[in-house]
Amino acid sequence: MKKKISYIFPIYNETDNIDLLYKSIHKLLLTRKKDYNFEIIFVNDGSKDDSLEKLMAIQQKDSRVSVINFARNFGHQLAVTAGLDYATGDAVIIMDSDMQDPPKVSLELIDKWEEGYDVVYAQRRTRQDSMFKKLTAYIFYWLLRRVAEIDIPPNTGDFRLVSRRVVDVIGQFREHNRFLRGMISYSGFRQVAVPFDRDKRHAGKSHYPIKNMLKLAGDGIFGFSWSPLKLISRVGYIMSGVSFVGIIYVIALKLFDPSAAVHGWTFASAAVLLIGGIQLMTLGVLGNYIGRIYTEAQNRPLYIVESIANSLDIPDKK
Ligand code: UDP
Ligand code: MG
Repeated sequence: MKKKISYIFPIYNETDNIDLLYKSIHKLLLTRKKDYNFEIIFVNDGSKDDSLEKLMAIQQKDSRVSVINFARNFGHQLAVTAGLDYATGDAVIIMDSDMQDPPKVSLELIDKWEEGYDVVYAQRRTRQDSMFKKLTAYIFYWLLRRVAEIDIPPNTGDFRLVSRRVVDVIGQFREHNRFLRGMISYSGFRQVAVPFDRDKRHAGKSHYPIKNMLKLAGDGIFGFSWSPLKLISRVGYIMSGVSFVGIIYVIALKLFDPSAAVHGWTFASAAVLLIGGIQLMTLGVLGNYIGRIYTEAQNRPLYIVESIANSLDIPDKK
């Protein structure tokens, strides 16, 4: 029997990219028609333009295509998660829908998978993004490598192939604040990189404004590391040490030169401000973890599906 490969495309306001994307994928898959069965899953993540209509038109014509339509926008990571939950392939390929991830590279991912790898991630050799995006990505991956307790390969996005057993493992991770590439690295198995050159976005503009980039960075760091908490206690120890010296100084001043005590005003206010700032920062870090615990405790569904157009069997997942 032929193996089955699933493609997952998260879609948010991609109306001007959908036709070109589908056309290129369709053409590409023709070349491997003899070897594999294919499934194409579009997850419409609450698009406000007519992306859904475009997807439905494609779905009507092509029985390999399924459309999962979210009730609202849940974000890229959850759109991909839904795709993984519903995919039935022996291997699943995750790609962006704006043509930044060149479709033909996906065939190289499949070839590597056939060599026995469970995770084949596409690793950017070059990318056509703004200086700002490159710089922030560089800092983020540097930080992640230093603080996270797992090894996340640098210069990788979510463009990758994962084998069925990895999909099943990830399917058991139901955390709400998701950093998929971290979860995939965490799952282990045999992983390998395929280098590629990332293209420019075809039409429209990025849906990852700085706010979303910070959220993803937070999910990577707070979701995979205790380091911020450890850092807090380290700062606490250092500050206690500094305070101890300060206290001795103040007492000594009082004993040996009582008239000079009032000179300590600058020192006192600086100390109060410094400690106040550190305390607020510390509370922020604690708050971040508590907020995450709160979301998990509520245990709401990860995403809400409004409609599904296809004939896939629907697994019983949240
Ligand atoms: N996307 C999504 N939901 C969102 C934002 C983005 O499904 O809330 C999709 C988007 O349609 C695209 C992919 O995620 O297919 C990557 O988004 P984008 O190109 O905006 O990010 P960038 O490449 O700039 O990091
Ligand atoms: Mg993009």
